[in-house]
Amino acid sequence: LPKIFLDAAPVLDKLEEAGFEAYFVGGSVRDLILGHHIHDIDIATSAYPEEVKNLFVKTIDTGIKHGTVTVLYNGNSYEITTFRTESGYQDFRRPDHVTFVQNLSEDIKRRDFTINALAMNTRGEIIDFYDGLGDIDKQLIRAVGDPVQRFHEDALRMMRAVRFMSQLKFKLEDKTEQAILDNHLLLKNISIERIRDEFVKMGIGSNARTAFEVFLTTKLSEEVPHFAGKSKLLEVFPKLQFSPTEETSLWSIIIILLKLPNDKIHEFMRAWKNSNAMTDEVERVVSFFDILSEKTPSDYDLFKVGKTTLLNTIDVAHILGQPIDSKVLVDRYLALPIKSTDELVIDGRFLIQAGFKPGPQLGVILEEIKEKVVDGVLENNQDEISLYINKYL
Ligand code: ATP
Ligand code: MG
Repeated sequence: LPKIFLDAAPVLDKLEEAGFEAYFVGGSVRDLILGHHIHDIDIATSAYPEEVKNLFVKTIDTGIKHGTVTVLYNGNSYEITTFRTESGYQDFRRPDHVTFVQNLSEDIKRRDFTINALAMNTRGEIIDFYDGLGDIDKQLIRAVGDPVQRFHEDALRMMRAVRFMSQLKFKLEDKTEQAILDNHLLLKNISIERIRDEFVKMGIGSNARTAFEVFLTTKLSEEVPHFAGKSKLLEVFPKLQFSPTEETSLWSIIIILLKLPNDKIHEFMRAWKNSNAMTDEVERVVSFFDILSEKTPSDYDLFKVGKTTLLNTIDVAHILGQPIDSKVLVDRYLALPIKSTDELVIDGRFLIQAGFKPGPQLGVILEEIKEKVVDGVLENNQDEISLYINKYL
């Protein structure tokens, strides 16, 4: 077993020695079998949260109500969740309460897809109630049990299905896909934050284009902000030569494909509950993309946009198949005499000492000097700049 499991094994042993059952469950077992990188480990146990807390010295009440305790052990942290079923699904969302159960099979039954319904003990033995191993072999995403019922319990699972398609390069099993098409309207009940997280994972996953196509054909796209009625525009995404690997590029590309005017970008990003930082960067990328598609940017354009936005925009242009010479752009950027305003050898105070009156005019002159320096017409040197500004005095 990989180190991450071996490190966690004493935690499971300790639970077992105390008379409880304990297993590795969910994504980590799936990723182990797939040979993928395992980023975290989830543990399921028959012990109640209070019993888990009594067994370990350092614990955190992560989600006691849902049965989850975080255990700190040898410098690692593990989420340990009591076997549970989910009941009282209201409004097709997360259950309002959970019921603890005594056996693993009841716990596994509530999980979304067969590939996520695997468990493993510390001896490396896999427990597979729903032929998740068979589906991993066939590269299929299949709901555990009746997909229609499972999507009514929690409609987010429909987004998770297309997300896993993208991340794992798997296909959707037919009945699972049909159930999404028939029940896509249920997605209305899910909070935009939860939809967004799955959408982003889908959009930057390694099989994003195929997953996006299914996101469109199952009509899930009709239930998310600003996508309704726009499938013709969005159909370009699955046909792109490449797909994004960065979230900034994903949002920028979607906005460009939707042909959103600049003054609508903010509203779009807000509707998806994206952060201000993400919104600002996407706005910068989309406007610089517009500049790039119209003309060769000036040195001052490159200066104003800055390195991060330049690289993000080059990524977007590349994915959208815009013929731009990214090497030339980057080389031109790197050759700029200054790359930020801090590097300018003069400032407002310098201008005042040279005899200028304080006021808004100062900013205009400063901006002009900066542009001349960036364009290489004026040297970034106090004597040269003094000579240049004399004409204004
Ligand atoms: P990732 O690699 O993205 O972490 P994961 O499979 O671990 O993938 P998580 O969202 O971390 O996904 O959830 C852990 C496990 O909990 C899943 O493997 C699945 O068994 C179960 N699970 C998570 N969300 C749901 C859901 N909405 N409905 C049913 N089971 C779920
Ligand atoms: Mg996980």
